[in-house]
Amino acid sequence: MLRAYKYRLYPTSGQAEFFAKSFGCCRVAYNRTLDYMSMFWIGGGNSVSRFAAQAQLVMLKEVYPWIGEVNSQSLQYAIKQCADAFRNWWEHRADHPVPKRKDARQSFHNPQHCSVDWKHGTISVPKCKDIKAVLHRSFYGTVKDITISKESGDRYYASVLVDTAIRELECDTVVDDKTSIGIDLNCGDIVCSDGRRYTNPKALLKAERRLRRQQRILSRRQSGSKNRAKQKHIVSKCHAKVRDTRHDFLHKVTHELTHDSQVRTIFIEDLNVKGMWRNHHLAKSVSDAAFGEFVRQLTYKGQWYGVNVVKIDRWDPSSKTCSVCGQINRGLKLSQRDWTCVCCGTHHDRDYNASVNIKSFGLMALPPDRREVKSVDCPPVDERRSENALRSSDRMNQEKFRGVTDAPVL
Ligand SMILES: [Zn+2]
Repeated sequence: MLRAYKYRLYPTSGQAEFFAKSFGCCRVAYNRTLDYMSMFWIGGGNSVSRFAAQAQLVMLKEVYPWIGEVNSQSLQYAIKQCADAFRNWWEHRADHPVPKRKDARQSFHNPQHCSVDWKHGTISVPKCKDIKAVLHRSFYGTVKDITISKESGDRYYASVLVDTAIRELECDTVVDDKTSIGIDLNCGDIVCSDGRRYTNPKALLKAERRLRRQQRILSRRQSGSKNRAKQKHIVSKCHAKVRDTRHDFLHKVTHELTHDSQVRTIFIEDLNVKGMWRNHHLAKSVSDAAFGEFVRQLTYKGQWYGVNVVKIDRWDPSSKTCSVCGQINRGLKLSQRDWTCVCCGTHHDRDYNASVNIKSFGLMALPPDRREVKSVDCPPVDERRSENALRSSDRMNQEKFRGVTDAPVL
């Protein structure tokens, strides 16, 4: 199974300079390929194949001689990404690709000849050896490729893709009332039908005053000045803190939910996050809660640890239905956090009631054939080493030629 591990990098000034060159050259290669493909298309041509696009690299090197200073494979990969993006648009799977910007997140990819040195705590990529890294987490397996990125607040990261012996756990095919939960996502908290409630740290709300102040200072700085660049760095650090807080919270919650041996199936609402962003009253709290990221993490962790993650129809009235008698309270407003059912007299907490309903809607929508389920314990991922998991011939070949990068024995 392929798995990515992300490590913080601390490059020297020379290495940082090499990174800056690589980011820039890959961006140029991407943008010029996009220009070339768009021109070809406007001129009445068809979609350009990936190989035809990659052949342009020779021409690019003639026009921009400095582009040869970085890893050629990184450039090839940038062109491939552009060709793939263009084809996705051509075949109506995605929007038209846009040029890469200098002030956005930067990255470059190294598809071969990368390694991790556990002894010295360094990572090496072609043309740039021994970059100091915090290897906070060990892995067993072969390094396939490394992507180096620069994120807000001038932080460098290496994302190491590893072919590991870890295998995904199989999901239970049988869905049962006892081993399933429903989750309601409101703008504040994550509420489960078994009574658990995770309070959202509301990182953006807390940092808002500081952010507003720093952004006001930034707006007063003269464009192009050094002080503006310094202030921009402070603002990006504020944003980085907000993002870190949010991700930390979501990772902890999704980890706990997918490592609970009593939970084999999770029902969630299929939320229209993009639609909610368009609502001015909801946009800020929705982006602060990061619903999309929560669902993404829950889905991939569910696949890894053998938990069914089932999305239910977004049009089911989960908040307005009484979970005891089924009466629908049509007059319920968004601001009402609790209400009493007129039919059976039960007093409901809005979110808890919704999560119970999501679970029962999900169970109703699935096939009726349900039997008793045995709960499966999920050990933490790095403990599940298996000797007979060497299956992929590709992986075996790699190990034969390159040697296994193994984690240190602690
Ligand atoms: Zn009722």
